[in-house]
This record gives sequence, C-alpha cells and structure tokens, in this order.
Amino acid sequence: MRTRPSILHLDLDAFFAAVEQRDKPSLRGKPVIVGGIGQRGVVATASYEARVFGVRSAMPTHEARRRCPHAAFLSGRFAAYREASQHVMKALRAISPLVEPLSMDEAFVDLAASPRGLEFTVEALTDLVRELKTEVSARTGGLTASVGIGSSKFIAKLATELDKPDGLRIVEPGTEVTLIAPMSVRVIPGVGPATGERLGRLGVRTVADLQAMTSAELVRELGRAAGANLHELAFARDDRPVVAEREAKSISVEDTFEHDERDPAKLAALLERDAAEVATRVRAGRLFARTVTIKVRRPDFTTWTRSRTLDGATDRAEVIARVARELLSGLDLSEGVRLIGVGVAGLTHVAQEELFSPDGESLDGAMPNGESPDGVTSHGDALDANGVDTTVVTTAADVAGAGTPPADTRIRRRPTTWLPGVDVVHDEFGAGWVWGAGLGRVTVRFETAETGPGPVRTLPANDPALRLRF
Ligand SMILES: [Mg+2]
Repeated sequence: MRTRPSILHLDLDAFFAAVEQRDKPSLRGKPVIVGGIGQRGVVATASYEARVFGVRSAMPTHEARRRCPHAAFLSGRFAAYREASQHVMKALRAISPLVEPLSMDEAFVDLAASPRGLEFTVEALTDLVRELKTEVSARTGGLTASVGIGSSKFIAKLATELDKPDGLRIVEPGTEVTLIAPMSVRVIPGVGPATGERLGRLGVRTVADLQAMTSAELVRELGRAAGANLHELAFARDDRPVVAEREAKSISVEDTFEHDERDPAKLAALLERDAAEVATRVRAGRLFARTVTIKVRRPDFTTWTRSRTLDGATDRAEVIARVARELLSGLDLSEGVRLIGVGVAGLTHVAQEELFSPDGESLDGAMPNGESPDGVTSHGDALDANGVDTTVVTTAADVAGAGTPPADTRIRRRPTTWLPGVDVVHDEFGAGWVWGAGLGRVTVRFETAETGPGPVRTLPANDPALRLRF
C-alpha cells in the first residue's frame, strides 16, 4: 500500500452539459440534458440545474422530459467534447506522465511519477490542484473539474465524489478506514446493485458492517476472488497501479482443435464462449471495442478473417457474439475447421457515442445487422498486409462521415433531420445552433460562445442558406 496521497483523480463537472452551456450562452444557468433524444434515448449528462429536478445520467430521456419538461434536450456534439477532453488530458500530462483516462472527462494521475519533486503535504497538493484547475479552465474556455487525492484509486475517486462540483478533497493516509466505515457498501468499486443486495441480505449495509466480516465469510458468500478483493477494499487496501496507455490494440481468443471440427452447432457455441471471454477482457480493461473480427483456419491451413466495424463501441458479450455469428454464417465450413477465434479491435475508453445515434436509439437499435437503417451498407473485400482475406463492412454513418471534405468549415449537404444542439450557420443570420425541428421547419438560436445570448428564428428546414457548421 502507498503511504503517501499520490493518486489524483479528476472528473469534469457535468461535462457534456457544461460544454453545451459554454457554447450556447442562452443555456447558461438553465437545465440542459444531453443524450439520446428519441423514444429509446438515455440521458448521458444532465446539468446541475437539471439534476435539481431529479434528472440523472442513464435515465430514459422520456422520464427526464417528464421531470424537467422545460430543459433544453440536446443530442450532443462529440467533436467539441473530444477537443475539450484532449486539452484536459494534456494539462494532466503536464503534471505527470502517468495519466490513465477512464473516459473523456475522467482520469487518474500518479503523482509519484511526477518529475516535479512534489511534496505530498495538504498545502502543496492544494496548490497543485489550484494550478491544475486554473489550467483546465483556461484551456477549455471555463470548464470546471472536481479533484480527489488519496493513497489509492479507490480513495481518490471517492474523494472526488465527496466534493462536487468544482471541488477538491484530499484524504490523508491513515484516515481512509474511518472515512469509509459509515458509508454504504456501494461506494466500493465493483459493488453494484446485485452484490449490494446480496450483502444486504446478510445484514451488511455499510462498509463498517463489511469490516466486521472475515475474509473467509466473504469468500464463502461471493467466491474466492470477489470475496477476498472486497475484504481488502473494505480496509481501503488497493494498490492497483495507474496505467498510462492502454497498449492493447486488439483482444482475441482462439480455439485450436486436434481434429477438424465440422459441427456448425459446436462451432457456434465455441464462438459464443470466445465472445464472452473477449467481452470480459474488454471490460476488465475498462474499454469498448468498435470492431469485431472472427478468424477461421481450415484443414489446409488457409486462414480467413472477417471483420465488421460497429456504429458504436461495445463491451457487451451478446453484441460481440451476435456480430461474430453473422460473420461466421458467411463462411463455407463444410471442409471442417482447424481453429476458430473471436477478436475485437478499435479499442476506446468511451462508449457514450452509442447514445447519440440520430434516432436516439441505444446501442441495440444502432447496431448494424449487415444493414444500416437506410440500407446504405457497402461491402468491400480487400487483402490486408498479411495477405489475409478481410471483409470490411462500412456502415452508412461511416460513408456519410467520409464524404468529400468541405472546402471551408461549412458543409454543403443538409441533414435529413436537424438534431437539437448541432452547430449551424446561415448566410444571412450567421452562426447558431438548432433548438428544434419538425413539420418542415427548423428553429435556430443565433449565438455562439463569443456572442452572448442571441435571437431565435424559425426557418424552412430546406432553407438553402442554412448549413451544418463544424
Ligand atoms: Mg464527469
């Protein structure tokens, strides 16, 4: 265990909503909800003004609308979020090379690896965090962050939660066990609703209750790994390292057979099992995968790989398995199989994009089934560097994104639907953003981060003077 408070955790406050309020002056101080806006959409981030009405992340959007009908519901602008995120990660790397991003708006930093020769006193750390917050605000146009510092990832992240927004909490080594004792067991990493309920049935509700259990009792109840781990965490013993870069470019699992396997049912079952294992490893790395690959080796040792890139990124076994099955179904296995495998690539820390498909559907609806919603799927065969036959499936969204680059920051094409929140520019009225659209009309508020609150105008949805702005 570390003896110094050398782990820093930073979490940007209501990140997506804060970026929207930064760029849309009329929404500052107002409830803003960013997420999937359709029937099956889910809230990604609610501004603090919306949280007052009980709106939370992961809540269905229709429920958020019921609780806070006057909020601005926006579909999200990933380019803007990504840019802000990069600035923040840069500010963190200026402190220490050991920065582990958990998502776009959250990261751990190992201060012990800082070349600055830091002192780990409360005073020195407070100065460091003040400087960091100033830097974050300056680089991002005024975003705020909450910071926690402690002797472990567990305690640092918990410390952040204890003081939000724009907070700073330093938990001094030696005080951790007392700090967490009265808290719910749910503060412990890995204790979700199911484990929480299971512990509750044993009368274990607080960390103090957990501290009163022996390791053996917990192992009996939860299994060896989970039980022992929970016992350690109950006493704030957590020496997980901060891992700077996720080096893994891909994760895969393969089965080689002694005899050629011909039974399609057995091959499908193996694929399923491999997909589950891949998903477990993806989740263990807190990653999400954009591409699913299967590999099949035939008795003559020719090897086929087939890949598909998803619209979103996933860590779910059932999604990986479904795509793998579909890829397998396109192969002729009649001669038998020597090896079969499932892999994923295109690994990312961020899954939220799945919330933002244009129809507001969650991942289930957005996943390509070989066909995109408007049927514009294109298949291209190519030989990759290893001479392996690879099938690349490009979805309609990819095709649209890869269109002719605009000559300036404007794009000539008009979208079929104007999503609320997107940036637009009008020849006459200038830059603004879409408030809402429907019945052949689009309502735009003409303002930017620089202008202050601007006027609203309703225009024909096919107004040739109105374009998306990037
Ligand atoms: Mg956050």
